[in-house]
Amino acid sequence: MSKYWSPILKNIKPYTPGEQPKDKKYIKLNTNENPYPPSPKVIKAIRKATDETLRLYPDPVCTELREAIASLYQVKENQVFVGNGSDELLAFAYLAFFEPAAKPVLFADVTYSFYPVYAALFKVNYQLIPTDDDFNIPPEGYYQENGGIVIANPNAPTGRSLSLESVKAILQHNRKCVVIIDEAYVDFGGQSAKGLINDYPNLLVIQTMSKSWALAGLRVGYAIGSAELIEGIIRIKDSINSYTLDRLALAGAAAAIKDNAYYIKIRKKIIRTRERLTASLVAKGFKVIPSQSNFIFISHPLCPGEEIFRQLREKSILVRHFNKPKINNFLRVTIGTDTEMDIFLEAISAIVTGY
Ligand code: PMP
Repeated sequence: MSKYWSPILKNIKPYTPGEQPKDKKYIKLNTNENPYPPSPKVIKAIRKATDETLRLYPDPVCTELREAIASLYQVKENQVFVGNGSDELLAFAYLAFFEPAAKPVLFADVTYSFYPVYAALFKVNYQLIPTDDDFNIPPEGYYQENGGIVIANPNAPTGRSLSLESVKAILQHNRKCVVIIDEAYVDFGGQSAKGLINDYPNLLVIQTMSKSWALAGLRVGYAIGSAELIEGIIRIKDSINSYTLDRLALAGAAAAIKDNAYYIKIRKKIIRTRERLTASLVAKGFKVIPSQSNFIFISHPLCPGEEIFRQLREKSILVRHFNKPKINNFLRVTIGTDTEMDIFLEAISAIVTGY
């Protein structure tokens, strides 16, 4: 703590990302990265973009990438915003749409832990809506006065998803404030709310290219919503940093979006691996929360989550353990390749058998 820090900084507890260790080689199942490489067309496009134009600023309005996203999802270009990862987009959205020290923004008690961090940073009040004992998000919890709503769908770190009907019901009860649906994991089997943006001008759907597009290293996220919401986010971006996406990220992300067929294939593979892994873990006595994402959330009736985490780490397998109420006996396990999951299964079986 430094005396030079602002009062907000002194009181904030920053988000802790999953570790990116350098001490030895791990099977890395802790940050929901895609186990498969991006489309070869992405690498080609990035190479091509590494030319003499790097001395020039990138396109501040990201025309090519926004056009590609608009065309893929059949929306208008002015209904698309792109940012440096969806985390940045979420931060911009808080600044754009949530009022400091006003009515609380609602989000689940078990959800993405960045939501309360932004609330603290931007002095936005929030209220936690309890998930049930099986981590379902009850839509009725969101039928109350609020200053905005943020829902991860599918939710993280549980993998549970809300049906489109439930999202619609929440939107019908909330016409006045902005409802953010964070669809970081939707491409692994969830139902996207993107198709509702023309009916609900207060709906902002945020997606990332870090998971289903295998581009965590490039830092690209996008938001889809009414032109008025998108204009609001652009105004925030242009009040902070006009060039959030560099030339290489713009080129690579656009090439990925234009090669959707490749991504459909690798997502199907990940879903198949998830279902196989789930069945094997259930057969071994684990509780596995049904997941529509590229990770599963698991616990064992006898062996504590923290103990499994520690022993897996010793065996060079990294998963994520959250030391928080309600979920401290659970582990979040990213779906890797089939080979990685076989090694994981063998290791975790040995740990719980010996317990
Ligand atoms: N939303 C959720 C629910 C996430 O789990 C993540 C990944 N940590 C993000 C947003 C941020 O993703 P990124 O900044 O890599 O786009």
